[in-house]
Amino acid sequence: PSPPSNGGENCCVKVALHVRPLIADERAQGCKDCVTVVSGKPQVQIGTHSFTFDHVYGSSGTPSSAMFEECIAPLVDGLFQGYNATVLAYGQTGSGKTYTMGTGFKDGCQIGIIPEVMNVLFSKIETLRHQTEFQLNVSFIEILKEEVQDLLDPATLNKSDTANGHGGKVNLPGKPPIQIRETSNGVITLAGSTEVSVSTFKEMATCLEQGSLSRATGSTNMNNQSSRSHAIFTITLEQMRKLNPVFPGDSNLNDSMNEEYLCAKLHLVDLAGSERAKRTGSDGMRFKEGVHINKGLLALGNVISALGDEKRRKEGVHVPYRDSKLTRLLQDSLGGNSRTVMIACISPADINAEETLNTLKYANRAR
Ligand code: ADP
Ligand code: MG
Repeated sequence: PSPPSNGGENCCVKVALHVRPLIADERAQGCKDCVTVVSGKPQVQIGTHSFTFDHVYGSSGTPSSAMFEECIAPLVDGLFQGYNATVLAYGQTGSGKTYTMGTGFKDGCQIGIIPEVMNVLFSKIETLRHQTEFQLNVSFIEILKEEVQDLLDPATLNKSDTANGHGGKVNLPGKPPIQIRETSNGVITLAGSTEVSVSTFKEMATCLEQGSLSRATGSTNMNNQSSRSHAIFTITLEQMRKLNPVFPGDSNLNDSMNEEYLCAKLHLVDLAGSERAKRTGSDGMRFKEGVHINKGLLALGNVISALGDEKRRKEGVHVPYRDSKLTRLLQDSLGGNSRTVMIACISPADINAEETLNTLKYANRAR
């Protein structure tokens, strides 16, 4: 059966807002909560501005525990039906992207979307195992300054184990850079990145943990690069479903005609901080401000708004996937039959009001 349209939704990108609580640091600075969630509506107010999204979670809106059921679980279900999907965590540094996504692995403590996806995925697989063969692969990469880095590279992982290693962000000599390629039928692949075949929750959790560590370790001595890079954890699910159970002696059913093959992937993206980097000179003097806008975030905004504009889409408007590595990599999982959820993360603190407003505007444009 050919995939039907997008589950009855008329827009292919859902936007949810996640308002985290004030954190200790903000309280200590005497920050005030400046974001009001309108009761009973997926709407927020900040100053005189008001924004409506598909969902609003946290800080007196719907509890964030509902986010998984409403926004993410349908994507995991879709994966089993062969639909690609993308979850994007957007927001300024410190707004809760990593916390929400679960890409910052702390002492074996598993919170966030990715660990929850893993739970649901493996329990679903368990119930379907009698009729379907599954193959799961994981990759974990980072895009920094328009270059793709492998967070699961065995060489990198070993390096970050050594006492004085700084998590080998440097591409090893002789190792060709990772390239984004497109097959003749439009499937995007990453040539040269590590794909780990996993069959248990624990194996997948190890990939998440190692990749997160390798991202964190590499960033300590490099001016906090992790806030300027996009981290993409990708789960690929292959299924070989036996349409008719084969019984011994029932020889004419033992036939590839009775098998269905499906392959779909889910990208879980912890985006670079959306604040405009304030560049600081080596003497500490600020010499340029607001000059550097992350190329991927810019292109992502343009792609999503092109996809969301139904009129333009019908006219066959050009979707500018090729403008950045990020959008190029996500090309087969953004738009078309794939499902996309953007989670805009914000801090409620008044000191962040300006960046929060920028995030709300960006997310609003994505709807
Ligand atoms: P980002 O990845 O956007 O830079 P983080 O996820 O690192 O932000 O979050 C910044 C800080 O806020 C961290 O200390 C994190 O523990 C805390 N935090 C984020 N979201 C929440 C939340 N929903 N509840 C409580 N604390 C949170
Ligand atoms: Mg982060």
